[in-house]
Amino acid sequence: MKILVINCGSSSLKYQLIDMANEDVMASGLVERIGIEGSKLTHKKDGEKFVTETEMKDHRVALKLVLDELLNKEHGAISDLKEINAVGHRVVHGGEKFNDSVVVDDKVLQEIKECFALAPLHNPANLMGIEAIQGLMPDVPNVVVFDTAFHQTMPEENYLYALPYEYYEKYKVRRYGFHGTSHNFVSKRAADMLGKKREDLRIITCHLGNGSSMAAVDHGKVIDTSMGLTPLEGVCMGTRCGDMDPAIVTFIMEKEGLSPKEMDNVMNKKSGVLALSGISSDFRDIEAEVGKNKRAEIALNQFANRVRKYIGAYATQMGGVDVIVFTAGVGENSIEMREQILSKLEFMGVKVDKEKNNVRGKEAIISTDDSKIIAMAIPTNEELMIARDTKRLTENK
Ligand code: AMP
Repeated sequence: MKILVINCGSSSLKYQLIDMANEDVMASGLVERIGIEGSKLTHKKDGEKFVTETEMKDHRVALKLVLDELLNKEHGAISDLKEINAVGHRVVHGGEKFNDSVVVDDKVLQEIKECFALAPLHNPANLMGIEAIQGLMPDVPNVVVFDTAFHQTMPEENYLYALPYEYYEKYKVRRYGFHGTSHNFVSKRAADMLGKKREDLRIITCHLGNGSSMAAVDHGKVIDTSMGLTPLEGVCMGTRCGDMDPAIVTFIMEKEGLSPKEMDNVMNKKSGVLALSGISSDFRDIEAEVGKNKRAEIALNQFANRVRKYIGAYATQMGGVDVIVFTAGVGENSIEMREQILSKLEFMGVKVDKEKNNVRGKEAIISTDDSKIIAMAIPTNEELMIARDTKRLTENK
């Protein structure tokens, strides 16, 4: 079974064709600047890159070119589109309707539209990708995998905000959480690597990248996560502020004369470790300044402290913790950040093994053999998770 996985952004899209017999990536690629001058498709096959620069006015044109690349005689991966059995799409927001992935039908499309207000930048782009594939490959089943679905097991006391209840009733203002596909993948992989059932473990997953979120996965179910109604809440991130006194919002808006949209832009694009360090949103650039620039250290220390704060909070919510997992760009690659976060958790029973922690981008147990809590680094693979769900929901149908 071959599955095409598509992740559409407003002006970009990523794709992977996966052979589910061995879960191998047959080809992958990225389209940038859709609908903008300078559109570019970079197709990857067997480690080689093939670049096409041509006008792509919308997602349908872009996806037609992607399918042409997959069929290309020299560097394609299939000889007939019929070889693609199903297409899996990432959709950011599933609201309260979806606690699992689902096969697309008209009702599902309508419900994705109803979540536009909750994810105005992402859901419309995700929908464009689905509709483009429906037009180009009308007989192929489409499956949508939601970033929010894995977090739908949270209890009310953790997903409701302490705001007038009518805002929840009228506007569905509540915690949803994001990166669910990643938290799901790494928590499952952690249990598999340990030869245990996820249902028998209390796991804290730390997805630390440009956007970062934490989740408490208690015996297989998320009971709390750090992102909220939007991905702005939680630990401070590359350019997002994360948790702060909500009164700051109106205070700065009044002082600076900012509109809601402008304030939103400040909190999402101009804050986080970028603002704290004054250097960059990229953790590599900031780490390179340690020892030379005080603000670089403040940014990294604050990030580590925030992550640790959530670990402490989630451990208390679950009545303990068995496994802490790091994933995404920073979590998979920053040896220093993992050590900084974990080194102050010895009192809880975490003992980092410096040698084992000396890994980047690989699966590893990074705690000592006698550590009470097991710490791990696990590369996330959201595309594979989407492909697996697509297979589960479409095979033998
Ligand atoms: P992601 O959003 O998961 O793609 O993560 C991207 C972020 O990972 C980048 O902004 C970097 O800050 C961070 N990152 C990637 N490689 C490293 C590394 N070797 N050391 C520290 N941070 C890294």
